[in-house]
Amino acid sequence: MKIPQADPGAGYLRHRAAIDEAIRRVLESGWYILGPEVDAFEREFADYLGVEAAVGVANGTDAIELALRATGVGSGHAVFTVSNTAVATVAAIESAGAVPILVDIDPRTYTIDPDRLEDAIRRCAAAPSELGRPRAIVAVHLFGHPADLERIVEISRRHDLLLVEDCAQAHGARFDGKRVGGFGNASSFSFYPTKNLGALGDGGAIATGDETIASRARSLRQYGWVDRYVSGVPGTNSRLDELQAALLRVKLRHLDEANDARRSIAATYAAGIRHEGVRLPTEARGSHHVYHQFVVRATARDALQAHLADAGVGTAVHYPVPIHLQPAYRGRLPLVAPLTETESAASEILSLPIFPELPSESVQRVVAQVNGWTRGGHA
Ligand SMILES: *Cc1c(COP(=O)(O)O)cnc(C)c1O
Repeated sequence: MKIPQADPGAGYLRHRAAIDEAIRRVLESGWYILGPEVDAFEREFADYLGVEAAVGVANGTDAIELALRATGVGSGHAVFTVSNTAVATVAAIESAGAVPILVDIDPRTYTIDPDRLEDAIRRCAAAPSELGRPRAIVAVHLFGHPADLERIVEISRRHDLLLVEDCAQAHGARFDGKRVGGFGNASSFSFYPTKNLGALGDGGAIATGDETIASRARSLRQYGWVDRYVSGVPGTNSRLDELQAALLRVKLRHLDEANDARRSIAATYAAGIRHEGVRLPTEARGSHHVYHQFVVRATARDALQAHLADAGVGTAVHYPVPIHLQPAYRGRLPLVAPLTETESAASEILSLPIFPELPSESVQRVVAQVNGWTRGGHA
């Protein structure tokens, strides 16, 4: 039996009756886009996060772009983020009209390194005509682990920068006891099916503690309308539909339980995997990791991945090519400093199977296969 790396279908089957009932309710209502289910989901999700408002949009990429535009980021602005993230993060910054400035990571958490962030801000501030005026930070809580929000919030205030959190992989993660998504001026979420809170199609949301930002985002997601058929600003179409909102409401009720299941799998991996060629992920003090991915590190990563594939264990690399080295971006994005840790991580990281419904026998089998890996004959 093959063990998949992720299995969004299992999340549907687990809550099948409630999801089927929610879908039937929407189908019979005759109202399919931006209606009572979206309103209710936005309220419930905002309450869950402990923020003022949530605004449903079409996907996580739009959520970043519209969060940036709603907070006032646009052309001529430099926006600081990382190169080891979903391409969406950087694509959204460019869609908002700004210039992404990529900063190296802390290799322990794979999130933006605060010292290097400050260094990049200073370099940009010294050459604003070339790089854009420093305006915002997009902090990505990669793999379910919060970025160092204590330092990042402090840096954003001291340099008068906006802070947007990319929470696409971190629904329910906490920093100092508080859920991520409530630290920045705005934050973005994706409900892509494999995410910790996943729809059965595309979906996303912006969360914010600022009513003005929320109302701008609501306008931007629907043609910039201030009134029906009257656009006050140039907007777009990025709406969440009622079907996705209705089933997200079901899944939101089980999000903490699903994250606990991920944490328990991670704990089993951490306790069971013992191999000198394999390094385990860490959880920084004060951080509550929700293990969107369980990412190990091996210098002989490709050999480990091949060994696991032979044993029927599905794995993935998130992400094999840092954004600044991809054809669409290479040589085009300004680099203010080398991205050494980012590049070194990309060649060594491997995401093991993890999803809430992964059976414990499968978890044990993965542990045994990793521990039994002999690199070309010598362990
Ligand atoms: C998934 C993801 C996105 C993009 O979300 P989509 O819904 O696929 O547009 C953005 N940032 C990160 C970190 C992601 O993992």
